[in-house]
Amino acid sequence: MTVSNTSNFATLAVHAGSQADASTGAVIPAISLSTTFAQSKPAVPLGDYEYSRSANPNRDGFETAVAALEGAKYALGYSSGSAATANVLQALASNTHLVSIGDVYGGTHRYFTKVAHAHSVDVAFTNLIEQELEQALTRETSLVWIESPSNPTLTVTDISVVAQIIAKERATRAAASPTPNPIYLVVDNTFLSPYIQNPLAHGADVVVHSVTKYINGHSDVVMGVAATSNDLIHEKLRFLQNALGAIPSPFDSWLAHRGLKTLHLRARAASSNALAVAQYLENAIGSTVVAVSYPGLKSHPKRDVVLKQHRDGLGGGMVSFRIKGGADAANKFCASTKIFTLAESLGGIESLCEVPAQMTHAGIPKDKREASGVFDDLIRLSVGIEDSEDILADIEQALAKATA
Ligand SMILES: *Cc1c(COP(=O)(O)O)cnc(C)c1O
Repeated sequence: MTVSNTSNFATLAVHAGSQADASTGAVIPAISLSTTFAQSKPAVPLGDYEYSRSANPNRDGFETAVAALEGAKYALGYSSGSAATANVLQALASNTHLVSIGDVYGGTHRYFTKVAHAHSVDVAFTNLIEQELEQALTRETSLVWIESPSNPTLTVTDISVVAQIIAKERATRAAASPTPNPIYLVVDNTFLSPYIQNPLAHGADVVVHSVTKYINGHSDVVMGVAATSNDLIHEKLRFLQNALGAIPSPFDSWLAHRGLKTLHLRARAASSNALAVAQYLENAIGSTVVAVSYPGLKSHPKRDVVLKQHRDGLGGGMVSFRIKGGADAANKFCASTKIFTLAESLGGIESLCEVPAQMTHAGIPKDKREASGVFDDLIRLSVGIEDSEDILADIEQALAKATA
């Protein structure tokens, strides 16, 4: 089946990069474990492949599928989301400058400040990027890095507003120099997945994912991907993917590709369950709950941007809320849930809960953490695809126990 004539998500998810095997007829691709591929003459491979670090059939299939789902010309698979970030950063010139949202993913923050910094990459963080980006840009800025919604406060950024500021900066540079420094916008789309949001359509140059989360979706693969329609960026990233070698295994590529085929079903189910949870928690504000943040709620401060940027205004599967009773109540809540497992990570079929101040965000000093809204009583939920009445009953009983 050819899928080149459709842009419909579900058809692409099931078919893109996944043709029946021409020699065996197998409908599902085999896992190609061979590290090397036969050649007929020196430097003339029999087929499309030479050596599995450079390219592998399973990785190719996965990359083709992600490119189709992100509306990109190209996608590149990596051994983790962090490896995708490292490759994008490595593609920059040294002695450069980048601007990032303040509450960027912790591992990305660590890479910016502890690894890229050693290669003379300077980073400016801002908590109000739409308002402050213009002043934060320097003539050396080569990258702007955002996540929307961000983690764990689910703050939404208008991608097109950021893209317009960058376009203006490009025009200024082009007017001043025949060889202007390039500047690119990267969006980490992990929290929503390509089903709910396609950042390239709003002006981003590169989109990255921790495939570990929604794209694989079954909490059994650590993997990453970057997608772009820019030929120059793609060329650099393709070179580095091979040169740095942080590539996913054929087995992980195969599993992630299998997971991706049901992304649309999982993303809808998780969003619908998360909306029910967020509405339940919102009704408990004043009694057991202090505040709720969920992009699918009418009360979300950026709901207008959500309606513009997310498919059908879906909120995704992540909900965060502040519980009455401080850190003790937050701990007790996560120890009392039965459907929600207390664990880091997100985006799987199963529901998870965690306390960011003590777990994913424990490395950030308290004053900085609280300045971006991560208080001791904040609980982050990754809502899975179990039955919503069981999820709601679990939230209800854990809230009662934690705030008794
Ligand atoms: C998990 C995550 C990453 C890092 O991905 P790994 O696969 O764990 O290396 C990057 N960004 C976001 C938003 C994440 O949630």
